[in-house]
Amino acid sequence: MIYYSTRDTDRKNPQTFANAVLQGLASDGGLFLPEKLPTLPNSFFEHIERISNEDIALQIAVAFIGDEIPLDVLKQIVVETINFDLPLFPVKENMFSLELYHGPTMAFKDVGARFMARVMAYFVKQHLKQEVKVVVATSGDTGSAVAAGFFGMEGIKVYILYPKGKVSPLQEKQLNTWGGNIIALEVEGSFDDCQALAKQLLNDEELKHTAYLSSANSINIARLVPQSFYYAIAYKQLKQYQKPIVFCVPSGNFGNLAAGFMLKLMGMPVERFIAATNANDVFPKFLSEGVYASAPSKVTLSNAMDVGAPSNFERLWQLCDQDVAVFRKYMQSISVSDATTTNTLKTVYETKNYLLDPHGAVGYYALDQYLNEHPDVIGAFLETAHPAKFVEVVEHILQEKINIPAKLMAFAAKEKVAFQVPVDAEAVKRVLQEK
Ligand SMILES: *Cc1c(COP(=O)(O)O)cnc(C)c1O
Repeated sequence: MIYYSTRDTDRKNPQTFANAVLQGLASDGGLFLPEKLPTLPNSFFEHIERISNEDIALQIAVAFIGDEIPLDVLKQIVVETINFDLPLFPVKENMFSLELYHGPTMAFKDVGARFMARVMAYFVKQHLKQEVKVVVATSGDTGSAVAAGFFGMEGIKVYILYPKGKVSPLQEKQLNTWGGNIIALEVEGSFDDCQALAKQLLNDEELKHTAYLSSANSINIARLVPQSFYYAIAYKQLKQYQKPIVFCVPSGNFGNLAAGFMLKLMGMPVERFIAATNANDVFPKFLSEGVYASAPSKVTLSNAMDVGAPSNFERLWQLCDQDVAVFRKYMQSISVSDATTTNTLKTVYETKNYLLDPHGAVGYYALDQYLNEHPDVIGAFLETAHPAKFVEVVEHILQEKINIPAKLMAFAAKEKVAFQVPVDAEAVKRVLQEK
């Protein structure tokens, strides 16, 4: 499979999947996409109910990766990627919650991180003679999923930059209690400082001489490919109702949505995607007005979606032939306020006895609106994190204590191993060189 950067319009710089993964971001600043979307066998969606979840995932992975990873190795990677439940929970008539939070750090990002870590470890061993240093800036979910995914991977060290005092206590423990090849850097600054530092480090010529540098943000194609697995697995179960199907995706950087959308373009018989955003409404505005204008991010209750310049827009733009009419054919989008998110979380808990997290609540509301107007349709929203990951927000809304799963509590008991660093690229660089 040949990959190109979204900015390489003349297609001058073809890359293997391995190179696309190891580089993360293309050198021209674009994001990698396959030359053309791969095809799945005709019978794939037609007879999907006869295919096991592992084989569904494997067939999709092979379509994107070809023979760059031997089949037996890829099969093992895929099995380890989805070795937890991905249930569809019926919340009410015609509406399901696709619970993507049963992995090690209880957010959907586990799926992408587990796959990327294993794929990268394979390529490092095959193609590189050097150690890889993965640098990631985080305010929560990404860093914990990446840490859990890469922990113990040979030939790779991960440096997690997070803002001191700005990550919730339980999230923080998921970042800084690993040790081993996971190096937590507690930055005396903001999340934006962390991101700026990560960028500086990744571009540092001196560092590049001593190690191969890579990033683990949602721009990496190795996070996108596995995120399409669970759409197909959900489709397999929804198909039996013989109704038009929609997926509703609570979105920030639009990596989750882009993954499902690729599968739709590859033949998955889904009617529509609903992109649910919080007050960061660049995408719904783009769909209604036809003009894409990024904006500074706003702080909301669903903070993993507080993105003012969605990085995967560039991929969607290519996938939709750079034409807003194509977007409108396949997608709808709505911005949901914090007040509505609060109200939805509370009401669904009280009337349906189902506890949403703030991101899932955004998705629930957007899907509910759509289903009210389309009673013949059946839909699933992606529940992207366990409510206990956002315990402070959820308990404040409900005015009661919620249960914290043992999996999360286990982190709370572990000892912190982090290095304090100032907002100073030279100082952080020394840590990267020494640790
Ligand atoms: C990252 C994240 C999102 C947004 O996903 P994108 O792929 O960036 O659109 C939504 N919900 C949760 C809980 C997340 O961690």
